[in-house]
Amino acid sequence: MARTENQDNWLVRPLAGSRLLVAVADGIGGGPGGREASALAIETLARYEPAEAIGETFALANDRVHAHGQATRELLGMGTTLTAAVVGGGRVVLAHVGDSRAYRIGRVAIERLTDDHSVAGEMERVGTLTADESAHHPQRHVLTRAIGPFASVRVDVREVSLGADDRLLLCTDGLYNALDDEAIFGLAAAGAIEAAAHALVEAALAHGGSDDITVVLAELATERE
Ligand code: MG
Repeated sequence: MARTENQDNWLVRPLAGSRLLVAVADGIGGGPGGREASALAIETLARYEPAEAIGETFALANDRVHAHGQATRELLGMGTTLTAAVVGGGRVVLAHVGDSRAYRIGRVAIERLTDDHSVAGEMERVGTLTADESAHHPQRHVLTRAIGPFASVRVDVREVSLGADDRLLLCTDGLYNALDDEAIFGLAAAGAIEAAAHALVEAALAHGGSDDITVVLAELATERE
């Protein structure tokens, strides 16, 4: 509601074996670099071959965004968050850099699956800040890891389970800065999955929509007759 261009990007891509590759990316900063960095990172994942490890695809995305930033003066240092998941076969492989988030929406609880790679997030993890202090810290938007600014990047990769009643939520900070975990859980768990995704974005917009808001919600397919 407050910005002239959307610097978030997202991907939902079917893979072989009834699996799905889903991702969100949030470009850093206000210049053209943010929009281009998130687009380039998502485009790299759109070419991701199932045989490759997703961590390697993240490294490739970093190479491409970094090279693009080095080649153009106005784009120097360009970067983006990138959170992705390969969903299928009862499990999820997550790869993550930056402060977008993945959550598992269970039947009775919401569980955050990613660490925020931000100054405030790092301080929260070592115990310097409480979760509430971290959420309001002036440096909560300053990233400690991103795709693109540097020649290499450390990627968090983990495998988590996803039950038949669970949903996987990927989102950019525009969602979780507007809505607390309880509100996210209530909307993400309720009703049909597509309506739930729209309800999350609508609720964040109603909260002011000062940032771009991107949501990808996934669940395991149930066998149909
Ligand atoms: Mg954002």
